[in-house]
Amino acid sequence: MDVVTLGETMALFTPNQSGLMRYAVSYSRKIGGAESNMAIGLARLGHRAGWISRVGDDELGKAMLHVIRGEGVNVDKVTIDPDSPTGLYFKEFRKAGDIRVQYYRKGSAASRMSKADVDEDYIKQASYLHISGITPALSASCKEMLMEAVNTAKKNDVTVVFDPNLRRSLWSEEEARNTLLDIASEADIILPGIAEGEFLFNTKDPDELGRLFLKQGAKEVVLKAGDQGTYYYNHGLSQFVPAFKVDTVVDPVGAGDGFAAGYLSGLIDGLSAEKAIERGNAVGALVTQAEGDVEGLPEMEDVQQLVNDENNSED
Ligand code: ATP
Repeated sequence: MDVVTLGETMALFTPNQSGLMRYAVSYSRKIGGAESNMAIGLARLGHRAGWISRVGDDELGKAMLHVIRGEGVNVDKVTIDPDSPTGLYFKEFRKAGDIRVQYYRKGSAASRMSKADVDEDYIKQASYLHISGITPALSASCKEMLMEAVNTAKKNDVTVVFDPNLRRSLWSEEEARNTLLDIASEADIILPGIAEGEFLFNTKDPDELGRLFLKQGAKEVVLKAGDQGTYYYNHGLSQFVPAFKVDTVVDPVGAGDGFAAGYLSGLIDGLSAEKAIERGNAVGALVTQAEGDVEGLPEMEDVQQLVNDENNSED
């Protein structure tokens, strides 16, 4: 296994029309979850990814497992919980550029994950453990589970990659800030967005954020700046890798998960930080071109074509 990730995936209902959610009458059913999005992204690029989670013993949980397994992600460590349902969320396309989400996830099967879901043998066979800041916000037992997974990874020399993925609606500001900083201090690589950095450290300045995240304990900081590109910092190097230009953004949600998949793919293939970020930027840009969190995740051929086209246009 190249990467093991863990977290909640929900059934996603996307309206077939834009406007206020109260007027939406028909939806397309998809799935969405930051960690499984990333795992599907890796599988599409040809890597081996495993996803630890719980789903309800219901049709939506089964549909989700079909999709994620069908995408080539290992789901051996997904438990079916007989007592609680699969979580849901709805998107709302209010107007151009204003996409909102409404969650129905409280008490979901995944929110009942606990330390018992952490399997040392499963994690230690991977090179990377990918985690997000959504999991510790789900419940006290999920937070314990995440810390247990991190400790297990560290004990076995598995690199811990942390995407803060701040979800303000899930917890109080103070709890979010304290917990995300705690996890950041345990991670080897951290993948925040500028807004998340600002939430944690009260500055938008990329270099300042890079310095503060390194001081917090990360060995590498990969700071995402949306359509601008990505900043990279380690203790000896700082770099900026520009984003790929896209004509129109169809749906920006999931770009960060795609970026994580592309960046990890680069690391697995032994690329330099700059080239791994370039691959992450390419995947992030391609994800914005399709509706849905996973629909736009590219195969390696598409990524290479975008990278080559860009490099040729610079010649
Ligand atoms: P998410 O909405 O998935 O949580 P995020 O805030 O974590 O996203 P972003 O910074 O929006 O992450 O996007 C991640 C990466 O995807 C960026 O660093 C960039 O490379 C690429 N990307 C995102 N939006 C665009 C865009 N409009 N044009 C080109 N590239 C983009």
